[in-house]
Amino acid sequence: MRIFTALLLFSISICQAQQVSLKRDSVSSTKEYVSLYVKNNMLSSIFFKVIPKDSIPKTIVFSENTVIKPSERVNNFIKIPRNILKTDTSKINIYDYFSFKFGYGDPSTVKHNDSYRYLLPYKKRRKLIQGNFGSFSHDHIASNHAFDFGTKIGDTIYAAREGKVVMIKENSKKYGRTRKFINDGNYVIIQHNDGTTASYFHLNFNGALVEKGAIVKRGQAIGISGMTGFTTIPHLHFVVHKATVENGNISVPIEFEGYVGKKFKKGKRYARKTKK
Ligand SMILES: [Zn+2]
Repeated sequence: MRIFTALLLFSISICQAQQVSLKRDSVSSTKEYVSLYVKNNMLSSIFFKVIPKDSIPKTIVFSENTVIKPSERVNNFIKIPRNILKTDTSKINIYDYFSFKFGYGDPSTVKHNDSYRYLLPYKKRRKLIQGNFGSFSHDHIASNHAFDFGTKIGDTIYAAREGKVVMIKENSKKYGRTRKFINDGNYVIIQHNDGTTASYFHLNFNGALVEKGAIVKRGQAIGISGMTGFTTIPHLHFVVHKATVENGNISVPIEFEGYVGKKFKKGKRYARKTKK
């Protein structure tokens, strides 16, 4: 169970996440400035929002809202004059100056197709262990509309909707009950033709059955369920996101084929009602 925003808990002093990296650029840095580049590691656009702390010096150069194209690197994304650095320049804590939000896709073009009926992303009857607005971890704008299905380790996970695989991670074996494990979850992220993305989280080690860049059909096997990241229970965290200028990723309400108009309840078991 995870809260999406915590992906921004970068582990090193200049921030770095899997989907987007913000790093010092030693080539572009000068005597006057430390220069940071941003790199989109996904095959979708990423919306990246830089929120300055009230107190930051006006001499720091940055742009507030940027759409970064798939796999694009933007040099001189942030330039910090060396004379204002509080610490040794090898250890910049970027959070002294900014906070960040990001979203998958381009907020100016994304519009969720609300009439789409998603396929349940697994086949067997499985218990919903946390539903929409669940107080454990679905209490944030990016996770309110997420589902935690109690899939077992080894269950096959299927694409709930057709699209393009824009990011995968499958190299982790780690899990745990604290937020420090949040970046250890394996996942597949698929972008749909309306610009939204579906995220399939907590997959098994080597549990992605598709490659980054693959075009997948609805109902295609895409992963193996597991227990990686911020969780101690095997399950699938499934959520559809859209990027917004204000908040970065927000989760969107969706409906499942065979369950239109029905609210999924925690503790109840659900199975696919349709083959396709
Ligand atoms: Zn969850």
